[in-house]
Amino acid sequence: MSDMITLALSKGRIFEETLPLLAAAGIEVLEDPEKSRKLILPTNRADVQVVLVRATDVPTYVEHGGADLGVAGKDVLIEHGGEGLYQPLDLKIARCRMSVAVREGFDYEAAVRQGSRIRVATKYTTIARQHFADKGVHVDLIKLYGSMELAPLTGLADAIVDLVSTGKTLKANQLVEVEPFMEISSRLVVNQAALKLKRDRLRPLIDAFAAAIPKD
Ligand code: ATP
Ligand code: MG
Repeated sequence: MSDMITLALSKGRIFEETLPLLAAAGIEVLEDPEKSRKLILPTNRADVQVVLVRATDVPTYVEHGGADLGVAGKDVLIEHGGEGLYQPLDLKIARCRMSVAVREGFDYEAAVRQGSRIRVATKYTTIARQHFADKGVHVDLIKLYGSMELAPLTGLADAIVDLVSTGKTLKANQLVEVEPFMEISSRLVVNQAALKLKRDRLRPLIDAFAAAIPKD
């Protein structure tokens, strides 16, 4: 195992919202991922680097040691399964909620009451399956990889399960949020072997992150 500490982040909100936590640990990323095409970004510390990966790939990188630590949404961690990952901190960043949404005019409550089979399109099949099982509602799940808002509009599905923060995207597509059911935020994940072998350098980082977590 190399002497480098590698942190896996996804571009966009997770990268942006992790920067203040890194700053609190004395770490400054030296390149802007929106301007650079590099996937490995140096920091002001010679022994710390950031790798940019897809949000859904962060747990995989950390599990298999491609990165020592990473930041991933609760949604991504549940879908991945979280095997082999130490999850010491809820960083309280990239907050949103997992919700059921339907086309304006679709009576979700009635469909549930009547015990109809509901067709649900989602990228989050594990979370959705568990949610409807808990409610005792029969659903046909349709796996999508993006643009879930389109599914009810085209007749592909009756409902979607998706992340919502402001609700603007739903509204712009004539969808209504009918059932928010899980609060989502991002967590720090750490490779278990790295935690043992690089403990002297990882522990202070984890402690600095913990001290810098935004208060509600
Ligand atoms: P991509 O958008 O590239 O397909 P993605 O949707 O997985 O990938 P992001 O949109 O950067 O990646 O989301 C990363 C994480 O941020 C998600 O896993 C989730 O935990 C959180 N997130 C997603 N959407 C929102 C939102 N609207 N507001 C706040 N946090 C969000
Ligand atoms: Mg996204």
